[in-house]
Amino acid sequence: MKIHKKISRYNSSERNGEKIKYIVIHYVGAVSSAKNNCIYFGGGDRQASAHYFVDDKIWQCIKVSKAAWHCGGGLQDYGRASVGGNKGATLHYICTNRNSIGIELCCEKSGGEIVPTKEAIQTAAPLVRHLMKKYGIPAERVVRHFDVTGKCCPNGYISKKSWKKLHDYLTEGTGE
Ligand SMILES: [Zn+2]
Repeated sequence: MKIHKKISRYNSSERNGEKIKYIVIHYVGAVSSAKNNCIYFGGGDRQASAHYFVDDKIWQCIKVSKAAWHCGGGLQDYGRASVGGNKGATLHYICTNRNSIGIELCCEKSGGEIVPTKEAIQTAAPLVRHLMKKYGIPAERVVRHFDVTGKCCPNGYISKKSWKKLHDYLTEGTGE
């Protein structure tokens, strides 16, 4: 697995000794490449970032030893509402920037919706499993932005059923 790197000195903070416990899956919410996202979110004063951006390649923007800014802040979108057979923000203030790794899936427009591409999902799966192994993160702690703040992220995988399929694929290489 090749990881391209353009490590930013901006848009991150210290983990303050917190152990990495979660991997948070996102979608970038626009149609653009992993490289371009990595360059953009590596720029000064973006107020947001993630460790990895993935299309058919993996681009790393923030060192894993630092906290990227991908799942912090208050409730968003659905908040704690029940949607598609599951409830949002069950991990609010439990999974945080300081104790997680953020992975952003690049997107395409499909049926009028911006959703992660197949290539991004396929490329992210070995990265997720590599990070699970390296940091001792069990599959149940591979979560969505939706689980942290209630945000509609990753779009297309908010229902319990669709997420289970993606989660199984990312963590076990089955499904999807
Ligand atoms: Zn997100």
